[in-house]
Amino acid sequence: MTSSVEYSPKPIFSLADTGREMPPIGLIGPGRYVQGPGLLNHLSRFLALIPSTRPAIFISAGGLRRHGEQLLDALRDAHIEATVEIFQGECSYAEIDRAVASLQAHKRPFDSLIAVGGGKCLDAGKCVAYRLATPVVICPTIASTDAPCSAVSVIYSVEGVAQGGEFFPHSPALALVDSQVIAAAPVRYLVAGMGDALATRYEARTCFRNPAGRSVIGGRPTIAAQAIAELCAQTIFDEGIAAAEAAYCGEVSSALERVIEANTLLSGIGFESGGVAAAHAVASGLTQLPVVREQYLHGEMVAMGLLTHLALEQTVEECAQVARFCAEIGLPTHLAQLSLDITDDGPALQAAMASTAAAPLMENEPFDVTPETMWAALLQADEIGRAATAAVGDRAYRRLRGD
Ligand SMILES: [Zn+2]
Repeated sequence: MTSSVEYSPKPIFSLADTGREMPPIGLIGPGRYVQGPGLLNHLSRFLALIPSTRPAIFISAGGLRRHGEQLLDALRDAHIEATVEIFQGECSYAEIDRAVASLQAHKRPFDSLIAVGGGKCLDAGKCVAYRLATPVVICPTIASTDAPCSAVSVIYSVEGVAQGGEFFPHSPALALVDSQVIAAAPVRYLVAGMGDALATRYEARTCFRNPAGRSVIGGRPTIAAQAIAELCAQTIFDEGIAAAEAAYCGEVSSALERVIEANTLLSGIGFESGGVAAAHAVASGLTQLPVVREQYLHGEMVAMGLLTHLALEQTVEECAQVARFCAEIGLPTHLAQLSLDITDDGPALQAAMASTAAAPLMENEPFDVTPETMWAALLQADEIGRAATAAVGDRAYRRLRGD
């Protein structure tokens, strides 16, 4: 099912379309970014920034059980009654169309959409808000993806296969990140977000160094985006282990605050204004395998994608360094840690890597990528990852899964 509403599969204001020989640079980010413990209790004060007095809340049924009372109480204290629309679980056009129709049928008018949840709920919320021409407020309940700060949503089929992106003329009006809520969520989400954030440095670097490289908004990456992408990965390397330990205890430590900021703000700006390349193309290709898309998180696929990206670019020493960190923090480092077996899954994996080689994101790589070089890079990444896990052990990986 496709949306009846027109959407943009390319950046609406692509800077690359201005016709100049050297496309202009650009930077994009949310209207406001606010982070700290207990912020959801003060939601109404932040809504005054929009300004909004009649919000609709877009949240999953599980999210409503966990956070609904806190959210609705905080709004009621300010005499604000909110409309609630339940997100059904997949960021697909079927779900987006359903939610738009349902919200349009509500008798109570609303003047903002507050999307509360994980990456898919937030991405679907951005699409719904755009179709309803209302500002979107993003409240992530996990720090696992770049969805909160970006003006792009990743669209999936009803079955969960990545289909591409939809781009919006505006970034979220407000990203409100309650670090106490993030600390209370399963640690695996935080660690997956670190996988997504780590890739930001290497993908932005690829786009920056390749004169033909473009950011997600279609311009040359800014040096600001470069610096942010660099700081993003460095923060994860420096504070990631301590942040995960704090999250296991449900404590909002300074390391956890910094990693939440890296996963959410730095990674969000870094990827959108710095650009993405092979790591995300591989992650997207891996969603073609049911066992991966059903059992693994976006950032976990990006971690395997990043190792493949570094193998493809033949920065083998860096690949080994990233693989060691991934093993220490519990991210997948090799195919078996994505429940893939080269004997059984070989043909499906090879097909996924062939379509990855042809993905538009690959145009940011400084050389031609073929199905053969893509496959060889995946196998080399798998080998490097297995060696890293043999050296470091898989305790962190198993701990995240409760083994
Ligand atoms: Zn990502």
